[in-house]
Amino acid sequence: MRRPLVGERWIAIGDAALAFEPIAAHGISFALFSAQAAHRWIASQDAEAYAAFCEEQWRAYRERRAEFHVAAVLELMGVRGGR
Ligand SMILES: Cc1cc2nc3c(=O)[nH]c(=O)nc-3n(C[C@H](O)[C@H](O)[C@H](O)COP(=O)(O)OP(=O)(O)OC[C@H]3O[C@@H](n4cnc5c(N)ncnc54)[C@H](O)[C@@H]3O)c2cc1C
Repeated sequence: MRRPLVGERWIAIGDAALAFEPIAAHGISFALFSAQAAHRWIASQDAEAYAAFCEEQWRAYRERRAEFHVAAVLELMGVRGGR
């Protein structure tokens, strides 16, 4: 995750803000949602709200990524219903 996300006359969205591992996906949906969130920030000038949105997306992504990889390892080990 890029920090800072917002500067003088610029705002990072999509991959410029958060880089997702392609296998865990969600890069395209984040690009679209972050554009919407950036639009709200431009309208409100609430940079903290935009940073909080990105932090939450980053936290959720890392959780999904961990679940994805743990599930793949459990499957390789022959453990079913690990998730
Ligand atoms: C191999 C691979 C597989 C993927 N699979 C998935 C998937 O299945 N699902 C998913 O959700 N996501 C996937 N992703 C991620 C997804 O492609 C990205 O998260 C998403 O495209 C990010 O959108 P973006 O608009 O931020 O950036 P980009 O789509 O990269 O758009 C940025 C654009 O800016 C242009 N540009 C760069 N520098 C300049 C400049 N100086 N001046 C003008 N233009 C410039 C670039 O040419 C590009 O067109 C994958 C990525 C990779 C690499």
